[in-house]
Amino acid sequence: MSKLIQGIAASNGIAIAKAFILEAPDLTFESKTVDNPAKEIERLVQALEVAKSELEVVREHTKNTLGNEEAEIFSAHLLVLSDPEFIEPIQEKIKAEKTNAEQALDQIATQFVSMFETMDNAYMKERAADIKDVTKRVMAHLLGVTIVDPSTISEEVVVISDDLTPSDTAQLNKQFVQGFVTNVGGRTSHSSIMARSLEIPAVVGTSSVTEQVAEGTLVIVDGINGELLVSPDEATIKEYQKKRARYEEKKAAWATLKDEPTQTADGVHVELAANIGTPADLEGVLANGAEGVGLFRTEFLYMGRHELPTEDEQFTSYRKVLEGLDGKPVVIRTLDIGGDKELPYLELPDELNPFLGYRAIRLCLDRPDIFRTQLRALLRASVYGNLKIMFPMIATLEEFREAKALLEEEKEALLAEGIEVSNTIEVGIMVEIPSTAVLADQFAKEVDFFSIGTNDLIQYTLAADRMNEQVSYLYQPYHPAVLRLIANVIDAAHQEGKWAGMCGEMAGDEIAIPILLGLGLDEFSMSATSILPARSQLLETNKQDAVKAKADMLSFSTTHQVEAFVRKTFPMQ
Ligand code: PEP
Ligand code: MG
Repeated sequence: MSKLIQGIAASNGIAIAKAFILEAPDLTFESKTVDNPAKEIERLVQALEVAKSELEVVREHTKNTLGNEEAEIFSAHLLVLSDPEFIEPIQEKIKAEKTNAEQALDQIATQFVSMFETMDNAYMKERAADIKDVTKRVMAHLLGVTIVDPSTISEEVVVISDDLTPSDTAQLNKQFVQGFVTNVGGRTSHSSIMARSLEIPAVVGTSSVTEQVAEGTLVIVDGINGELLVSPDEATIKEYQKKRARYEEKKAAWATLKDEPTQTADGVHVELAANIGTPADLEGVLANGAEGVGLFRTEFLYMGRHELPTEDEQFTSYRKVLEGLDGKPVVIRTLDIGGDKELPYLELPDELNPFLGYRAIRLCLDRPDIFRTQLRALLRASVYGNLKIMFPMIATLEEFREAKALLEEEKEALLAEGIEVSNTIEVGIMVEIPSTAVLADQFAKEVDFFSIGTNDLIQYTLAADRMNEQVSYLYQPYHPAVLRLIANVIDAAHQEGKWAGMCGEMAGDEIAIPILLGLGLDEFSMSATSILPARSQLLETNKQDAVKAKADMLSFSTTHQVEAFVRKTFPMQ
């Protein structure tokens, strides 16, 4: 019987493949005393051996698909598995206390982890993370539970899971992973954003997909409408194959606009830029005809590894992007970790409200060691292109002033060392917190530009977590309160002769585009794959009409009224 599961459309496209369930394994075990410790030790040795050969395969596979650096993590795991200082105490414990292998492994691993975690040494902290990972793997073998490594997927599948962290998403191999569907998440959660940059169709926020789909079932992901079809019949498969072909045709038509300038129907130019996470995204930026990079989310350079990236590593990445854009503007945002983007090696305490907590500029101002390294790397790279630096999550003017002062200090230090730094770097902020949007007139006197981060601005304005599918009905981009804040920011910028862009996902939304054009937005920055559809829409939209509609658009009291007005006034293609 076929079944339809409704979720949130996270990344466009249609995928048809078998379901691959990616679940966190249940590793609960019973603590027991045993009569035959030798047999327990034998079980332990067996589990260690299987874990080793499995890790060797994963390491080889990762090396081939993602590269040497990513594969290094697994070499570190293999070292732990062969380390007598770790293994012998487990065997001793089994012998001395006649405990089962699971309990001995758990207790010794816990001792090592807490010992390493309390050391004030990044290398030792990494060892704690390795031991945790390896212990999970060995425990799974002792319990006969299967561990799934997303990086080893080697046939065409649709990944189904409760959640995907941004680093899980980064490990997915696009060649095989045709789509993904999760229980949790929203359109602006970072795994959705990554799915769009990887061009993998995705549906998130289904609540219970993992309970409703069995491994190996044929499924269709409709990332356009946010639907998953389970066990479709032949006729439905044919229908979706046609839909997929139509979508591909549309994409081909958009592709013809790649080298065209972005102009409205009445000939006004607006800038269409791309959001990126790593230099690897450059290919998509160029292939989709972006006129610049409006947001480089640098936190991805810090993720999927065991330690902070060095100044030189960062410099190399920033330089690559600046050179790749060949003089076109590149807005690089300083580290915005926190919220749904974690860095396990920083060992930050768990928070009740991570989106309202210790993240982004708050963490950077508190950890100037981390921040200064990034600022130096950015300044050194500035001579290789048209760099603009942007600070995230600015809530007060003092934060901006403090961040800018650190930037100035690092610039002076580099110049004193005889290192060249561009003197035309613009310094701006993300406007993603209501306090800053309200006070935009004050900020506009001090910043060079604004980039409106609606992904967060919407969640803070309506108090609706961008990750929580239960309140996704309140996450309303066209809510009149959000529109008034946006208008306030754009007007404030223009009043001071500054420019205002938007790098939240709203900038690429077809209902929002005529609104933002009418409010006077100068730069629209979005997932690279949204650029050509946006260019095609702008070619059909008259800026003067949009400006005339501004007063109406700001006069409404509900999202529904705004949407109805836009659909009537600016018919969609
Ligand atoms: C935003 O908040 O709109 C934004 C672009 O930043 P991020 O999605 O990385 O929080
Ligand atoms: Mg944000």
